[in-house]
Amino acid sequence: MIAVKRVILIKYGELSTKKGNRNFFINTLYNNIRNKLSSFDVKIHKDRARMYIEFDATDLEKIKGVVDTIFGIHAYHIAYIVPSDDNSIQSELLKIVETEKFSTFKIETRRSDKSFPIKSQDYNRVLGGLLLKNIAGISVDVHNPDLWIKVEIREGETFIYFDSFTGCGGYPVGTQPRGMLMLSGGIDSPVAGYLAMKRGIVLDAVYFEAMPHTSIEARNKVISLCKKLAKYTDSINLHIVNFTPIQEEIYKNCREDYCITIMRRMMYRITEKLAKNHKAYAIVNGESVGQVASQTLTSMRVINEVTNMPVIRPVACLDKLEIIDIARKIDTYDISIIPYEDCCTVFVPKHPVINPKLELAINEENKFDYNEMINTAVAEINTIKINEEYGEKFSDLL
Ligand code: ATP
Ligand code: MG
Repeated sequence: MIAVKRVILIKYGELSTKKGNRNFFINTLYNNIRNKLSSFDVKIHKDRARMYIEFDATDLEKIKGVVDTIFGIHAYHIAYIVPSDDNSIQSELLKIVETEKFSTFKIETRRSDKSFPIKSQDYNRVLGGLLLKNIAGISVDVHNPDLWIKVEIREGETFIYFDSFTGCGGYPVGTQPRGMLMLSGGIDSPVAGYLAMKRGIVLDAVYFEAMPHTSIEARNKVISLCKKLAKYTDSINLHIVNFTPIQEEIYKNCREDYCITIMRRMMYRITEKLAKNHKAYAIVNGESVGQVASQTLTSMRVINEVTNMPVIRPVACLDKLEIIDIARKIDTYDISIIPYEDCCTVFVPKHPVINPKLELAINEENKFDYNEMINTAVAEINTIKINEEYGEKFSDLL
């Protein structure tokens, strides 16, 4: 029996470069981990250098699954904590490695507790000798060992570990203010949302629907995508805009090749208003330079002209295949490719303008009174709070 605690040891990685903000980053990460693991029997400890989670061994795999979705964690280890005295370290180390299968090993000691009487280099030799004497058929390999054993001696407690897992990186969600994600049912916007959260941005999402031209299935698809994104945060407010009246007016009044440009200017206007109402500091979307007519730089300039708010386009410079790789990784791809009509796909002009002129776009959109319609669309927004379990409880469906 190993008479020690087994914990998930988290190193902060990139966080540690944020000197002035360090405590804020660590506290945000701590709160996020605590929220995400609230249904487990865990104890979370933190200090300036690391954090660790004490857990019930039977939950390890499930907890790892959750830890893998928490931004701000770059790497973590399954570590054993033993008392920081030579006897305990030696006897526990032997028990810990007993069940491991390896033929070569390396010991790497770090001694942050300088009152520990043996220097790191010397202690490597002490512990190495201990293993060589007690375990048959093993040898030291400092370059490419089967088992690379790290021993971190701190005041009171020593961490011993050799397992290392890559976390999902980034900054903890909540270290940046809110952004308003334009979430369609496509491949790009969920990836954009994921990447924005990875930078620490808290997300709300807005979806423009055009019932009856678009279906309830299209809406459910966006809800499913939002659920996938909610895995990386606690919940996302999804604002559903009835875009039908505006879209119909555009197609009735404006020149066909400018309809998409104008439609997107309207979407931006509504998104900006919504963002301001919900204290969001930026718009986030899945535009990618050159992907379609409305995403040439010329189009982007004409569309973007309606707002001063920063527009973050996390996939702006990625190839479609690179975006798809991320979509598969975050499990949104299979949902995104389900073929339901989106409001952008229902009304597609045969030849959308590739290089729109700003004055022309303004002239065309002034052919109907859109301000009132925009205010109505914003006032009538239907908001649902989506978390990972959304739709699994009966009350969500009411
Ligand atoms: P995606 O870009 O998500 O794959 P898409 O390619 O169908 O979907 P585009 O026409 O490329 O969408 O639109 C560019 C961006 O505009 C989207 O990534 C999304 O951020 C936003 N957008 C488009 N349609 C909608 C919509 N119906 N509701 C909310 N946002 C939308
Ligand atoms: Mg797209």
